[in-house]
Amino acid sequence: MNVDSIQNGVVIDHITAGCGMRLYSLLGLGALDVSVALMKNASSKKMGRKDIIKIDADIAIDFDVIGYVDPGATVNIIKNGKLVEKRVILMPEKLTNVIRCKNPRCITSTEQELPHIFRLTDKERKEYRCIYCEAKAGR
Ligand code: ZN
Repeated sequence: MNVDSIQNGVVIDHITAGCGMRLYSLLGLGALDVSVALMKNASSKKMGRKDIIKIDADIAIDFDVIGYVDPGATVNIIKNGKLVEKRVILMPEKLTNVIRCKNPRCITSTEQELPHIFRLTDKERKEYRCIYCEAKAGR
């Protein structure tokens, strides 16, 4: 895949250097049957270093996952070789089944069918807490 000329796909740009891999795994990109390129430590005028993820397929991206991992990232949607949408990503107020509560006493560890829901409790610190047991999400 030529990473510079995506015809139809998604480019996640301005990822904080070092966050690309985590984003890649939380978005489940490794499990998809599409071409994905993860570029680490690309040079950026604005940021010095950044990571970039290019997905050469028109797939639905969970913006909440991006907002959770790296709210400064931008998402470019490319159709027919043209940039059709540029999105600035914000921190989601709520995360459903993105991360799992690790508290062994949490109800989600015994009630397997419960969704894992976290709520943004501190925007400054990017802190999320489990809605059931209030445990902080591990970073
Ligand atoms: Zn919990």
